[in-house]
Amino acid sequence: MAGALLSLDDYWTEAAPTVGIDFREPDFMLFDGATTTACGNATSAVGPVYYPPDETIYIETTFYDVLRDRFGASGGPLAELYVVAHEYRHHLQQTAGRFEGTDRSDTGPGSDTTRLEVQAD
Ligand SMILES: [Zn+2]
Repeated sequence: MAGALLSLDDYWTEAAPTVGIDFREPDFMLFDGATTTACGNATSAVGPVYYPPDETIYIETTFYDVLRDRFGASGGPLAELYVVAHEYRHHLQQTAGRFEGTDRSDTGPGSDTTRLEVQAD
């Protein structure tokens, strides 16, 4: 996870300014069970998440066990890196102002929430 973060920092430090993003690196926290964020408590029930108010990516480490044991995921390290990259992209959305003016209470196919998730992917 730390290696993925360093690679993403290196890439986006160079690439983000070329697309007009005033880049700053996100904070990153691996935790087991629960932790406190600027938005309240994050738990294993939430899964990997990026919280814009503290510009921090939170990865609950048992999430990967759940993917593997409950859902039969077999993507190995690449799948784990993908999750970090997805949350990192939410940070880029934040720094680019993409969250401003969006309605993230709706989750339908044409909603802002879906658009932001597809863009992060
Ligand atoms: Zn997402």
